[in-house]
Amino acid sequence: MDRISLLLFSSALLLGSCQGGTTNSPQTMVLQGATLFDGTGAAAVENSIIIIEGDRITCAGTSDECDPPADAEVINLSGKYITPGLIDAHVHFFQTGFFDSRPDALDLRDTYPFAEVTANQKKNPQRYYDAYLCSGITGVYDVGGFTWSIDFQESAEKNPAAPHVAASGPLITPSTLDLFNLPSDKTLVHLDSEETGVTTVQYISELGGTGVKLWQLLQDDPDYMSYINALADEAESRGNPLIAHATQLEQAKAAIEAGTELLVHSVSDTEVDEEFLSLASDNNVIYTPTLIVSSGYMLAYRAAAGIEPYEIYDPNHCVDPETRELLNNASQFSDHDRFSEGFLQRLQAFDAEEDRVSSTDLHNLQKVYEAGIPIAVGTDAGNPGTLHGISIYDEMEAMQQAGIATEDLIVMATRNGAKAMQRADDFGTLEAGKLANLIVLEDDPSADIANMRSLLYVMNRGNYEEVGDLGFR
Ligand SMILES: [Zn+2]
Repeated sequence: MDRISLLLFSSALLLGSCQGGTTNSPQTMVLQGATLFDGTGAAAVENSIIIIEGDRITCAGTSDECDPPADAEVINLSGKYITPGLIDAHVHFFQTGFFDSRPDALDLRDTYPFAEVTANQKKNPQRYYDAYLCSGITGVYDVGGFTWSIDFQESAEKNPAAPHVAASGPLITPSTLDLFNLPSDKTLVHLDSEETGVTTVQYISELGGTGVKLWQLLQDDPDYMSYINALADEAESRGNPLIAHATQLEQAKAAIEAGTELLVHSVSDTEVDEEFLSLASDNNVIYTPTLIVSSGYMLAYRAAAGIEPYEIYDPNHCVDPETRELLNNASQFSDHDRFSEGFLQRLQAFDAEEDRVSSTDLHNLQKVYEAGIPIAVGTDAGNPGTLHGISIYDEMEAMQQAGIATEDLIVMATRNGAKAMQRADDFGTLEAGKLANLIVLEDDPSADIANMRSLLYVMNRGNYEEVGDLGFR
């Protein structure tokens, strides 16, 4: 949606509220006849009724349970399917979906100066908001970025054309990498003392950040772990939970022992063991497997190396023109020094279907699932080749490959994401009192999670829109 249509959209909302009639109560809308998956894990309700007043649900259930008022606007959705709005519990607003925001992976700063790329990301989140809503996503969790991403929480909340946003702000790390830092603003905070950790937690918590993100940790270094313990105490006293990118088994265990409540990546180095499963289970950790991001890099590298264009499967036109242009022009970098003979051979050997998901990640997801540990859906959108919005379909389909039942996967993509964002009281399930964030599908998502792609309508905080009106044309 461009700025003009956003203005029109906002004035339409104002008009709508004026036409509400003689009482002060907002117009009641009823969605009737669809098969309802309410996000709680309860059995689907056929021929359901959902009553919405303003931005909230007042009833969701069977026709015995929900009695719509006579003057309500009724939308007949017989034969369709409804789930809560999807939640992508792992995104990064500072990243574009290409290498211009990842100079560590492919340095394009001569063409795309990092300061300019970052300023543009800070100023223009609306194109991603549009992409998310168009993909059925009504909530996103930015688990690492500049402090300005924290400001998006409030501005998105006030913006009817945005999903809900939670954001953690800068990542705390043993790394000294400064490629993502500007002299005036940081994404990475090098943890070199207890004081650095504690002060950072104080700052991001005072800014209102959701979660404190650890990016790798040195579980065998007692000094480093004493810094972690100090910041963990500070985070706990402020009620701000730890989030970790910990992709090795021993690292992930250390992260949980330090108090981490959300793991935003799979354990990837080896098979998870009983100790890990009990730790995660006892501490009620949410596990976000983030399966497709690595292969996204490979696909984006192949495009940049001129091997094969990056294919965007996007029938609803949810991907914004800027992102399309970056990917469509990727092969201008085919003579980059990064593409050595050896690296090119690896890229050529990559098989987009066979190598899409790591077998260790899939196997570990299966074990975590069988152990009953809560799981959320997250894409790592913004990383090269993992696009804001539409990537969520690939991620859910990859998770289905681990043998997760579709009914459970719906809960992971909705309620559990809202829990990860610490917003489960507001949305993530379709129950009386919750915000009216939901999607309407043509095909049954419990038959195949790929049917999430058959999106027809998106309701975001009571605003009901046809998916065709949400895309970029
Ligand atoms: Zn990430």
